Amino acid sequence: MVENQGKNILNNKVVIVTGGSRGIGREIVKYLAKKGYIVILNYNKSGECARNVENYIKKEGFSVDIYKADVSSREDAENLIQYTLDKYKKIDVLVNNAGIAQSKLFTEITDEDWNNMINNNLTSAFYCTRKASKSMITQKSGLIINISSIWGITGSSMEVHYSTAKAGLIGFTKALAKELGPSNIRVNAIAPGIIDTDMNKEYSKEDIEKIKEEIPLEKIGQAQNIARCVNWLIEDDYTTGEVISINGGWYM
Ligand code: NAP
Repeated sequence: MVENQGKNILNNKVVIVTGGSRGIGREIVKYLAKKGYIVILNYNKSGECARNVENYIKKEGFSVDIYKADVSSREDAENLIQYTLDKYKKIDVLVNNAGIAQSKLFTEITDEDWNNMINNNLTSAFYCTRKASKSMITQKSGLIINISSIWGITGSSMEVHYSTAKAGLIGFTKALAKELGPSNIRVNAIAPGIIDTDMNKEYSKEDIEKIKEEIPLEKIGQAQNIARCVNWLIEDDYTTGEVISINGGWYM
């Protein structure tokens, strides 16, 4: 078992974060590992980034467990969950964060684009959650957090497939919260606005300035804003079926 070496060990909650190698997921991993949780960082393509996160966390006196899995594949997703159960005997929190984005005219979206988008953003959450929830039901506790998007609420032009997948995550969250509530399992979604990560690297400086003008708080969000919300949801015990918007007031 990974030993957290040190400071401020909060408790031994076991947390899986999918897509923890970069961006929002990386910040969630760092935040929770430094709180003393046992964190499993899932990555797919960015092994070096995952190892950099691991080194950073070690230097801070804590630890993290890294596991490669393409969560859009049922086999890989289930292996991630089984690995965690074999090693730690339980899963307290599953953060379905892994996702991809693409900007394309609706009429140009190919079957492959559509399937990639749905598989990476929505089906991945289904695979991980179906397997993890079985053990959560047995232990009669658990928390599932799905990282949706503002576009899953409002829809975004040129991102119909992305908006569809993220809206799907919201329906998934609410329905599952109803079904799993009696087993003391909470299910919530976070819907970020625009957050400063690689996902938005296509935007020019001018694009970002224009977007800021539309946001009442006049700035784009940081991954840490999302990490703090995840931490709050872990500490809370009465919020379920919610979609928490973190978007600087861009959409209310
Ligand atoms: P990012 O910087 O592009 O990072 C995406 C992460 O997802 C990477 O760690 C990547 O891992 C992982 N990933 C993608 N497909 C995967 C798969 N099949 N299996 C395992 N890992 C996979 O994006 P981000 O901005 O942090 O986005 C994180 C989540 O927030 C996404 O669900 C995104 O839709 C959502 N979101 C982001 C924003 C924003 O403005 N940034 C706004 C709203 C919602 P590898 O590189 O290792 O493959």
